[in-house]
Formats: sequence, structure tokens, C-alpha cells
Amino acid sequence: MKKIVLVIIDGLCEVPLAELQGKTPLEAAGTPNLDMLAKEGACGEVEPFWWPKQGYPHSDTTHLALFGYDPNKYYLGRGPYEVAGINMPLKKGDVALRANFATVDENLIIQDRRAGRIEHTQKLIEALQGQTIEGVEFLIKKSYGHRAGLVLRGPGLSSKITDNDPHKAEEKTLDIEPKENNLEAQFTAKILNQFLKKAHQTLKQHPLNQERIKQGQLSANYLLVRGAGQMKETPGFQEKHGLKSACIAGGALYKGIAKILGMDLIEVKGANGLPSTDLKGKFNAACKTLENYDFVFIHIKATDNLAEDGNYLAKKDFIEKIDENIAPLLKLKNTVVAITADHCTCCKLKSHCAGPVPLLISDSQGDGVNSFSEKSCQKGGLAKLEALELMDFLKRER
Ligand code: ZN
Repeated sequence: MKKIVLVIIDGLCEVPLAELQGKTPLEAAGTPNLDMLAKEGACGEVEPFWWPKQGYPHSDTTHLALFGYDPNKYYLGRGPYEVAGINMPLKKGDVALRANFATVDENLIIQDRRAGRIEHTQKLIEALQGQTIEGVEFLIKKSYGHRAGLVLRGPGLSSKITDNDPHKAEEKTLDIEPKENNLEAQFTAKILNQFLKKAHQTLKQHPLNQERIKQGQLSANYLLVRGAGQMKETPGFQEKHGLKSACIAGGALYKGIAKILGMDLIEVKGANGLPSTDLKGKFNAACKTLENYDFVFIHIKATDNLAEDGNYLAKKDFIEKIDENIAPLLKLKNTVVAITADHCTCCKLKSHCAGPVPLLISDSQGDGVNSFSEKSCQKGGLAKLEALELMDFLKRER
């Protein structure tokens, strides 16, 4: 049986740009290695999963679907994946949320949603730690920058609650409201509001914030929380697919999704989810990991962020960097290498956008496609798959 490497390049594809003479960043990039893989393998497209109400595809549900998990059945909400990705252990029934340290004025009007992008939040987090309200424990952990993870642990909780984050500065923070008319949602909203109010008092008076104010910096005096989700059991990847699996990723969300699906996380120093990430280290680690695993998922993030910044030249350059560093995967024997994206991210819109994503599968019968791009993959022999079909397809290629 062959092994499988799945490389998901976040937001890789998009519509052509006049600034690139009618090409997309992927088409404009020089990618001899990817083109060789396309020539020797087969290409096609994948239709990303998304709910119409979401506007455009989101990275959490698109990834779940690519791994063969129907989000209609298995999606937990964003919170648990983000929180699992920063190594907070989650128990069944826990409600997890993403949190931001923010700055509010005395009327709870948001001045800065990121408290001036504060970095050193450890002391503030310590001051908020260890609280129990009506039998529910509140656990908080630092994530990168101004971000944190928040977990509510105890009986009678529900994730059917709103955010307190209006997603805009100069607006008043919101109260957490139950989204469902039941005791669990009402109780969770009530105690979370109490915790947030208490947290605001603690943060306001904290010496670190007093010092920040003295220095003319923004006080990290409020927690904005969003994306509540409740931990429930998800069948493991090995149980579902019969593949011993590992994940190599920099971003917390992707590590968290992999972790909740039971993949082992392989830490690569310098894998940070940014354009400066150690791509070479990631691909080399993947080759090594394959010695002991059947399936390795490699996630590459910066293509998405660069497109959200509208920076098409940097996106093109980063794609070239991926191509340069992917070389070790070309030498793998007895391995199916699949390369695709979770969704498109358009530089023009500076956001995720609709449309199928290109798919390349090595070690398949050639199909006359000689390059890896949005357009060339349309003509590929694999035709168009639904995201949820990809894993079964890859397993058949073994
Ligand atoms: Zn994405």
C-alpha cells in the first residue's frame, strides 16, 4: 500500500488579475517542480465545501470536508479548533471560544479590538485564571499576539450563545445572548457575562495595564470572545480512514482541526504560518514523518494572508518559494502526493472567494496536463470532485 501526503495551500487560487497581465499569482509564478508533478501525474479540481449562509468558504469547514468529515455532522464551531490548536486540552461538554484582549472606554465602547496588538499578556492571563462561577470553571490560555483561548468546563453548558464582539471599533461591546430558548444556553450566557464583567474589573486595575496607560499605550482591559463551540466526540481519522496520520502546520486552527481528528502533531521549528515560515523544514519533516505514518497533512498558510492583504506580487513570490522547497516530495517512492487548496482567496477582493480549487495528484496516470494552475487543472483527467469525495479518491489511488 502506498502512503499519502496531502498538501493544502490555503487560498492558493483566484481569478486572473490585470496587474499580472491577465494571469493569477499561481499562473504568473515560475513553478517547475509543481509543473513536473502535474506532467507526471493527473490534475483536476475540487469544489470546496461551504454553507451558502457563510458568504464565502471558511477554512475550518473546508478542511473538515477535505478530510472526509461532513461539516453538517461534525463541525464543532471555530472555538474548539482554535483552542485545541494552542494545546488546551478539551473534554466532552466543554465550551470553547476564541478571545482577544481589547481596549474599551468607561462606557464599554471599543477603542481598539486588539489592545494595540499587545504581545505580553501572560500576567493578565494569570490574573484571570482559576475562576469558578456556579460550578463552571473558566480556563484561559495565551495564543499568539493579543489572542487567547477560553474554555468553560462544567455541567449544563451550551455553545448556542452569541459573541460579545461587534467586530468593529467605536461600537459598544455586546452582551452574550442565548441563541436558543433553553436553560443551558441561558445559563451559559449568564455566567459568561458574569465572567467577562469580572475580567474587565480585574484587567482595568491590573498593574501591567496601569503601567501601559502611564507609557501612553492602550490598556488591555477587556476580553472580546467569539466562535463558541462545544466539544463532542469526533470519530478519529485512523478509525474513519484506516490511516495512521500526522499533521505539519504552523497555524493554530489547522493544528487544532488535526488534533481533534486524532492526527499526531509534528512540530517543526520555524513553522509559523507566516511568509517567513520554514517551508524547507516542513517538507523535509514530512518525508521523515512518512517513515512512520500512512498519511501526512501539510498545511501552508501565507498564500491566504497575502491575498487577503491584496499583495499579489508577494503571493506569487511565496508560491515560487513553495515550489522551490517542495522538491523533497518529488523524490518520494511509493507515495501519492496530492496538492490542492481549501478555497480560493482573491487579491482583488482581499477575501476568500468562490470557485473550484486546482488538484494535482502524483503517481497517477498522466492526463496531458503539463502545468499546475487554475486553468490547466480544469482540463485535467480527474475532472471535478466534491471536497467530501477527496479522501475516498486518494485511498483508491493507494
Ligand atoms: Zn483557508
